[in-house]
Amino acid sequence: MKFIDLKTQYERLSGPIHAGIQQVLEHGQFIMGPEVAELEQRLASFVGVEHCVTLSSGTDALLAAMMALGVGAGDEVITSPFTFVATAETIALLGAVPVFVDIDSVSYNIAPEQVAAVLTKRTKAIMPVSLYGQCFAVDDIGQIAQEAGIPVIEDGAQSFGASIRGRRSCGLSEIGCTSFFPSKPFGGYGDGGACFTDHAALASALRQVRNHGQDRRYHHPRLGFNGRLDTLQAAILLAKLEAFEQEVEQRTAIGQRYTKQFVARGAATTQDAEQGLLVPYVPDDQRSVYAQYTIQVDDRDALIAALDRDGIPTAVHYPVPLNEQPAFAHYPVRQSLEVSQRVSRRVVSLPMHPYLCEQDQDYIIDRVLMACG
Ligand SMILES: *Cc1c(COP(=O)(O)O)cnc(C)c1O
Repeated sequence: MKFIDLKTQYERLSGPIHAGIQQVLEHGQFIMGPEVAELEQRLASFVGVEHCVTLSSGTDALLAAMMALGVGAGDEVITSPFTFVATAETIALLGAVPVFVDIDSVSYNIAPEQVAAVLTKRTKAIMPVSLYGQCFAVDDIGQIAQEAGIPVIEDGAQSFGASIRGRRSCGLSEIGCTSFFPSKPFGGYGDGGACFTDHAALASALRQVRNHGQDRRYHHPRLGFNGRLDTLQAAILLAKLEAFEQEVEQRTAIGQRYTKQFVARGAATTQDAEQGLLVPYVPDDQRSVYAQYTIQVDDRDALIAALDRDGIPTAVHYPVPLNEQPAFAHYPVRQSLEVSQRVSRRVVSLPMHPYLCEQDQDYIIDRVLMACG
């Protein structure tokens, strides 16, 4: 059994994928070829925003978003400590200060009241993460940002395809960023990412940043870097986009089925409890893409060992909050991060991909309940 099965998808889409690659090899425009522009148009319309600017990775998308918004030395950016390192790493790389706020124990995303508590005159942006494929608290955080006159940059690396009341992730704030890393919900066959925005001026700044700050050849009004998406990767993503709506449906159905079965057999959701076996809670007005299907248990090491013996792979997202990582230890912590700390010791992710069959899923559920029983 695979934690994420990329092979089944490849077998189903290999025809269009090969044709797309072949076309790029023949026209030879490996950098900023026509597939890049086509992908950007299709993704902007998928998300429901005016502009998509593709980038060389999700990390570079976050970096470019902050550069386009003028985040720099000494600025503060409010974010989550319970995320992949790239979220805070890019803030720090720009000389800005990642200000960690605690997460909500139900959604795993930053708690709006905690955000409000750490705003200062130096706060330049808020960067919520739509973790595990579920959108951040867009209304409350959007309102806090609006009152403070600062932008929100969504780290939607895990939530591409998710939605909240019909609005899609990456189209919920000034700039939304995502990743096309192979194991993400919309993954390519290498590194890639994108920024989404409704603002023409931000889109134009993003286009300059990803191309060495250039507005026309050898003319550089701003600092940038080499952040372009390869044409070959764009061709692969275009082929995969054909199946993506269907895959989002399958991901949602599989995630919901996990939860329904676990709850039917006695598990609580993160809304009901803080101890014991907990499964995710997704409100009715949200659609998660379950980038990860992550549960909480009291004895994680024992569960991982038991599942390993049963041939079921697992992963931990994430075992250490970023404020406790050596690279971030020198940033002051301004509030208690106890929820992040607690759940980082309790979370474990189960196999999750659009092609997970019911038989495998039932086996996983049985073995988890057996080990936790
Ligand atoms: C994967 C990920 C990133 C970085 O994306 P890359 O494409 O790997 O650079 C950033 N933030 C989160 C939350 C992620 O999961």
